[in-house]
Amino acid sequence: MTHGFDTLAIHAGQEPDPRTGAVVPPIYQTSTYAQHGVGEPRLGYEYSRTDNPTRDALQECLAALEGGRHGLVFASGLAAEDTLLRTVCKPGDHVVIPNDAYGGTFRLFARVAERWGLRFDVADLSHVDGARAVTRDNTRIIWVETPTNPLLNIADIAALAQLAHDRGALLVVDNTFASPYLQQPLALGADVVLHSTTKYLGGHSDVVGGALIVQSGDLYQDLKYHQNAMGAVPGPFDAWLTLRGARTLGVRMDRHCDNAERVAEFLTRHPKVRKVLYPGLPDHPGHDVAAKQMRRFGGMVSFQTGDPALAIAACNRARLFILGESLGGVESLIEHPARMTHASVSGSALEVPGDLVRLSVGIETVDDLLADLGDALA
Ligand SMILES: *Cc1c(COP(=O)(O)O)cnc(C)c1O
Repeated sequence: MTHGFDTLAIHAGQEPDPRTGAVVPPIYQTSTYAQHGVGEPRLGYEYSRTDNPTRDALQECLAALEGGRHGLVFASGLAAEDTLLRTVCKPGDHVVIPNDAYGGTFRLFARVAERWGLRFDVADLSHVDGARAVTRDNTRIIWVETPTNPLLNIADIAALAQLAHDRGALLVVDNTFASPYLQQPLALGADVVLHSTTKYLGGHSDVVGGALIVQSGDLYQDLKYHQNAMGAVPGPFDAWLTLRGARTLGVRMDRHCDNAERVAEFLTRHPKVRKVLYPGLPDHPGHDVAAKQMRRFGGMVSFQTGDPALAIAACNRARLFILGESLGGVESLIEHPARMTHASVSGSALEVPGDLVRLSVGIETVDDLLADLGDALA
């Protein structure tokens, strides 16, 4: 029997505890497990870096939400990225990443993986030709974010999957911004979905984590081996908190989208705003592709004021929109990417405009959010 998204969020991987009937999966806060005899673990559990029941519950739930067969969770989004890279690539391999990738992802490639021997090119992945132009014989991964951070560009997942597969590469989609409620890349041909569960999946800004979801059993076995061998796993309480958040993903995302649509519309009409970047706006260059591959357009809105000083002042003046990095929590956040989240890409091909402001629109009463933005821009 197949279930709807919200049913899966609440039930997948979350059978009542067989021993006590506890409706919520317990936090198995243990490092090790008693064995029946030498080499005879009771239910397959031996050591919590390798397997933990609370982590299993989260992994199963996230796999179901992405329509994938296998899920693996990590201590952070970047830990998931690092484990993925070193599982599927070897020194000398080549990877294509978007020219406005998440700053930490760019830093991982440019400062860590490149020293280890990985080669990469950045490309404008909002056009398939941009990706095709830099793909080489030894390209192992085409790495996509859509919508991107912080410019909210849209990439055509199905078209890029085709390109990757024609070249013998894997398509990896960082689905952090959309969340599985709005977009399911595996169904569009992606090989791996990556999440910073720190953001919408956790949803309450109280836990850091990452996830990989795949279809292929072979790739899963390889990743699971490295999850244990590299050891970047989340603790049981972090897994439990993330699962607690994931149960309400659908209702939260609908409110994030409702509020973001109102905020985008408000900013479009504001005299001090030069440009609003939101894929839900009909004049957004990626609107048609987004409408094809997403259920709705998400909770992230960026805008340009034409004046870096005004962008910084608006960030400093906002009150309800809390000045801070990260995104995807119930509370609204505002930030200046050039000086904050994307400071690490300054001077590179990924540098972002100084007059850009990024909003993570929360689920507060929307009129209060509009009033706060009005004051911040006054
Ligand atoms: C935050 C983020 C990451 C990194 O995840 P962490 O949990 O912070 O390690 C990767 N990709 C995107 C799009 C992000 O927003």
